[in-house]
Amino acid sequence: MSDLTLIPAVSMALPETPYHARHFINGVYCDSADGVVTERISPSHGVVVSRAARGGVAETEAAIAAARAAFDDGRWSGLSGKARATVLFRVADLIEKNVERLALLETLESGKPISQSRGECGGVADLWRYAASLARTSHGDSHNNLGEDMLAMVMKEPIGVVSIITPWNFPFWILGQKLPYALAAGCTCVVKPSEMTPSTTAILGEILNEAGMPAGVVNIVLGLGQPVGALMAEHPSVDMVTFTGSTAVGRSITAAASGTLKKVALELGGKNPQVIFPDADLESAADAVTFGVYFNVGQCCNAGSRIIVHEDIAEAFTARVMELSRKVAFGDPLDPRTQVGAIVTPAHQQKIDGFVQAAKADGAKIAMGGGALSVPGLTGEFYQPTVITGVRPEMAIARDEVFGPVLSVLTFRTLDEAIRLTNDASYGLSAGVWSENVHTCLEFARRAQAGTVWTNTWMDGFAEVSFGGMKQSGLGRENGRYGMEEFLEVKSLVMRIGRSRAPWVKSI
Ligand code: NAD
Repeated sequence: MSDLTLIPAVSMALPETPYHARHFINGVYCDSADGVVTERISPSHGVVVSRAARGGVAETEAAIAAARAAFDDGRWSGLSGKARATVLFRVADLIEKNVERLALLETLESGKPISQSRGECGGVADLWRYAASLARTSHGDSHNNLGEDMLAMVMKEPIGVVSIITPWNFPFWILGQKLPYALAAGCTCVVKPSEMTPSTTAILGEILNEAGMPAGVVNIVLGLGQPVGALMAEHPSVDMVTFTGSTAVGRSITAAASGTLKKVALELGGKNPQVIFPDADLESAADAVTFGVYFNVGQCCNAGSRIIVHEDIAEAFTARVMELSRKVAFGDPLDPRTQVGAIVTPAHQQKIDGFVQAAKADGAKIAMGGGALSVPGLTGEFYQPTVITGVRPEMAIARDEVFGPVLSVLTFRTLDEAIRLTNDASYGLSAGVWSENVHTCLEFARRAQAGTVWTNTWMDGFAEVSFGGMKQSGLGRENGRYGMEEFLEVKSLVMRIGRSRAPWVKSI
């Protein structure tokens, strides 16, 4: 693996004191009553980078009660859309002001490169601004053609108290796909970040106070899935739960929420294919495949973790992807040149390697990589860029979400076969097609079972464009106007405005 591009440890000193992350309940920061904390060890540097209060039932109950009271007295939902938008715009400005601080903590806790953290933590301001603009557009319909003396209105109302549970791979960004939209709709919220990456979410409390968000509208509880997340999903005072994370936890959240039949929105895993036709711009396709598999070390719901490439070009195309893989800068996440950082935990590193070893045992060929990567000067978890060929559709490596820098290569002969392989998955998050033939692209896009189909590109996202999964990749959509609709309830108001109605009882 000596021919890889490695960025060794930089000399930049880590913060001397680990960040102390606390709960944010009713506008006030607090520790847990029992003083218990969760220590986060940096995945790249192996030192403690944060200590976060570990909440229990008491803190979760307090946060839910605060959100319930804030919703019921109308301190937020009772404001005009314009007034809510004003606060959300201020939050966006303050996020931008705090980017450096947010990005450093995001990198230290998650292992992602600092340049990527800066992009994500700063870029999220755009989601807040877009959601702010939607706050003024949540109106329904009116019907004045129902008969002379009838008038009806279909109104949109905030759904109520929303539980927001987020994962470790894009902590601040994924929060930005949920929280501002819920707030734009007029909801109040209880937020739980992953126990592995709590700090940037905790910092948001300061920003919300400075922006003038009324106390109790957003409450943040730090802690584990059990008991905090489970209680947030099950609690009768919560009206909706929106979750991003694994499909297994998504199922348990749906079960917990079913006790009160509350609404559930889920963004789950994926096994996303990119289909490469021989007439494609193969250089762009190879570049996008390389990006798709290694971005965030493949710890990405949208990772392009399998390619389905036409058999006439499979060998040359795979060789080009492997050549590009050697040029991707893996290494110290604190160096701004680094493109790919560390794996989130030692346990996850082992899980990734388990998938690779199983693929080998199943008869696939490890054409490149397939083991831990050592970065000079660092003790953390890194994995080699890995390409696996000879993959058959029934193998686990072709079907399961690896969540690591591992690409599976499958081949096809016809468009029908490519579509069959694309849809032969329990997931349906995203899919890509590469061809210069517009008919091929459109037919693929129409027949692919995926929430997003990228055509001659990969992983571009916009605040305006809704995102979400089909099949076991999720329920509901984020971003775009559908992103806010998720947090709105529909109420119909039917009025008789004349005196024409004959009494029903006397008419018999
Ligand atoms: P995870 O499911 O283990 O944890 C996600 C969150 O759920 C964490 O905050 C965790 O504390 C909490 N949680 C755990 N058990 C819980 C329970 N029983 N009840 C309530 N909450 C509970 O996921 P993860 O390992 O943090 O993230 C990786 C997964 O997230 C991958 O499968 C990935 O595909 C998925 N993901 C999906 C998207 C998407 O938009 N589709 C985006 C990012 C990540």
